[in-house]
Amino acid sequence: MLKINDGSLHEECAVFGFFNGGNVNAAQIAYQCLFSMQHRGQDGAGLAGASGNNVHLHKDTGLINEVFSKQVLDEFNKDEILVGHVRYATSSSVTMLDTQPLVMHGYEGFIAMAHNGHIVNGNEVRRELQKRGVLFQTSVDSEALMHIIAGNRDGIEAGIKDLIATVKGSYALTLMCPDKLIGVRDPWGIRPLAIGRLGDCYILASESCAFNAIGAAFIRDVKPGEIVIITSSGLQSIQTQPKKNTSLCVFEYVYFARNDSCIDSVSVYQSRIRMGRYLSKTEPVEADIVSGVPDSAIPAAIGYANESGIPYGQCLIKNSYSGRTFIQDGQLNREQSVRMKLCAIHENVENKRIVLVDDSIVRGTNSMYIVKMLRNAGAKEIHMRIASPPVRFACHFGINTPNQKNLVGSYLAPEALAKRIGADSLAYLGIEDLVAAVGNKQIGLCCGCFDGVYPMPIEDVNA
Ligand code: SF4
Repeated sequence: MLKINDGSLHEECAVFGFFNGGNVNAAQIAYQCLFSMQHRGQDGAGLAGASGNNVHLHKDTGLINEVFSKQVLDEFNKDEILVGHVRYATSSSVTMLDTQPLVMHGYEGFIAMAHNGHIVNGNEVRRELQKRGVLFQTSVDSEALMHIIAGNRDGIEAGIKDLIATVKGSYALTLMCPDKLIGVRDPWGIRPLAIGRLGDCYILASESCAFNAIGAAFIRDVKPGEIVIITSSGLQSIQTQPKKNTSLCVFEYVYFARNDSCIDSVSVYQSRIRMGRYLSKTEPVEADIVSGVPDSAIPAAIGYANESGIPYGQCLIKNSYSGRTFIQDGQLNREQSVRMKLCAIHENVENKRIVLVDDSIVRGTNSMYIVKMLRNAGAKEIHMRIASPPVRFACHFGINTPNQKNLVGSYLAPEALAKRIGADSLAYLGIEDLVAAVGNKQIGLCCGCFDGVYPMPIEDVNA
């Protein structure tokens, strides 16, 4: 099966947890929440459900609607606690082994866990555990996290504190053991995790758009270094020491998160509108129409249009069902892949001077085909405006970035890049303006793929 490589950065996962404090259909809630976070991973999905000491698991490669038939879902209807996961695989081969949640059975009973993130000192942690006789069944670093937690005889909370003290990297976790749902966010706060409530039920999710999907109320974000424990008595918090340089991934606002999500008290949609406004102020151009590359660049295009006074209009239409196809690998070249995903709306393009706003440029190949598509549809001028700085460095915290030599922003100046992709001009949003547009007052931001400044040393990275 072909994964259309669209030249973008990709999120690697979303996590989910549910504590059924009422008498609701747990399976339906889980399905809707995972479905609303499908944009964070399309390669695999899974759910573990528990009632008392009994745990059961279903996971597979594929989209949510491919992994869960009605018959499979019905098995989760009456569960008291659930954890779930959607996965984006970093390699082109997608195997069942990499899917989550992971389930282990220890002395105190079962533990099930879903992980979003990447462990920077994963090799070192794995070797330490192996020296102590721990046997690994998978190559995913999430398994090491499970062994650290399960290996502490003082209970799951003590195991999680061990993990926070030992592990370097990004992790948003949802875990369950008999009668408890637990959420954990790494002490840097690199990956997001939010708490929602539906009647007497609690939900944990990577993005608050999951709560919108089921009509649940957003309660708050899990804080960096916080462990939240949900039982039939309610929610209890253990706050471990957060890092001084808390660093939420700024790419959540640029591209990854869904427009209706709110992360660390900042609306993703409004932050993108502000990115477009700042971009219009710093990189103005005369044009007839402002348009955005669907979907994540549309709010930035609206912001650019509002600030500049140039009318907003749709120049490109997206086929939302093109994420995965059954066309065999090699049958489509990259240009055909882009055309499967996007098409020009001729009426809005012909004889127009267009400001085309995109959220980011990674390899530059997508932009080249989009510009060609608009030229073929009769565009007079095309001015690319990018609502983030050039991507110049690799990510080491769970985002699939191409090798640095393939990051076009690391070796081509804007004028040269405009020439290469066939645009009349190209300009980026500056890093200070990006940070100001996000306006996150609660915790700091990681901008590592733009400025090479990471929240922690990365010499021992195991990528
Ligand atoms: S390096 Fe970039 S993609 Fe990775 S966590 Fe930092 S901002 Fe996000």
